Amino acid sequence: MNILVLNCGSSSLKFQLIATDLELIKLNKDKRLAHGQIERIGGAAIVTFVADGKTTYRSAKPIKDVRTAVDLVLRWILSEASQIDEIQTLGDIQAVGHRVVHGGEKFKESVLITNEVLREIEDCIELAPLHNPANIKGIVAAREILGAGVPQAAVFDTAFHQTLPEHAFLYAIPYQFYRRHKIRRYGFHGTSHRYVAYRYRNIKKIERENVNVITLHLGNGCSITAIKNGNSFDTSMGLTPLEGLVMGTRSGDIDPAIIEYICSKEGATVQEAETILNSQSGLLGISGLTNDMRELISEAKENNDRRAKLAIEIFCYRTAKYIGSYLAAMNGADAIIFAGGIGEHSPYIRELICENLRWFGVEISAEINERTINGKEGVISTENSRPDIYVIPTDEELLIARDTVRLISAESESKPV
Ligand code: ADP
Repeated sequence: MNILVLNCGSSSLKFQLIATDLELIKLNKDKRLAHGQIERIGGAAIVTFVADGKTTYRSAKPIKDVRTAVDLVLRWILSEASQIDEIQTLGDIQAVGHRVVHGGEKFKESVLITNEVLREIEDCIELAPLHNPANIKGIVAAREILGAGVPQAAVFDTAFHQTLPEHAFLYAIPYQFYRRHKIRRYGFHGTSHRYVAYRYRNIKKIERENVNVITLHLGNGCSITAIKNGNSFDTSMGLTPLEGLVMGTRSGDIDPAIIEYICSKEGATVQEAETILNSQSGLLGISGLTNDMRELISEAKENNDRRAKLAIEIFCYRTAKYIGSYLAAMNGADAIIFAGGIGEHSPYIRELICENLRWFGVEISAEINERTINGKEGVISTENSRPDIYVIPTDEELLIARDTVRLISAESESKPV
């Protein structure tokens, strides 16, 4: 089966085309046929499409909305220029899997999209006003272009964290706010944390119930999850992705009183203060330079830039503090796993974080750490280390494609729209 995986944001679209089925999943032999992205939808968009191992297409052109963007992706996939032999007609795409950011308390796992599911995703818009509307537009566009007969699945960022116990998901604010407004910790990046835990289980050849690990997704957005007996037990992002670790442009945890203080001192509205915390804070805010960790490391090392160094220091310090608190939360873990752009590619950041974990028994091998980059998977700790430290490249799109295949196979009788 060829599955189109769509991740539609408010001004961007990412896609992958993956050939997979139940047999290929078992053998871990799924194959990515193409991937790409369109940035700056709504204006002069930048398009990058890659047929893996074959062609790359780049262009800049005006793209007015998500519908036009999905249309462009499909037309390129079908075109002779892309050289994707597996796809000759639209009928060769058997299903679509969508990343949907917020599933509220309703969705505890991935589902096939029906009209009712679509309505329920709409109900979650107030919890994710920036993300869910774009996800919905992607679903509607794919349905219009491919036809209602092609099954579509929704894979939620929040679903994996629905196993959080009450004591981990409730905030210590008046309880009626949870009852009335569903204010609670939902957590995000669930598909990534779930995939990484799944890979760990495969590597260790252990049962799901025996997975007791801490997973770190360190990309532009960053989050950490405590996984106990295979289930998400606590996670750092909250009602929104703003809470938790220091991120590219997000502050992570702050004293909530700072918001009112910024408003009064800067004459800002609450929305403006929130935008500052979401888009102008984190690594970018501290360094005043960039949200890109690779660039910060160069600035720190080559130009000895004080604020670049400070941003890196705060990032690593706060991450290590979170790991410490999760080791307490879950009464010890067997492994700590790095994933995401920073986690997968930066031995330097991994080393800085692990330096603060020596008391817990963490010891990484400098040499193995240094060479575990560029998508390599494996242990980077020494034999003496307890817990083990792993690098496991994440692959959310693959999990979305696999969930889609499993749902179609399990529910071939159901009527997706
Ligand atoms: P997203 O969360 O948008 O998917 P990624 O997971 O690709 O982003 O992570 C992006 C982050 O990873 C950026 O801060 C980037 O600088 C960082 N990164 C990528 N490669 C390296 C590297 N070699 N060293 C340090 N940081 C890196």
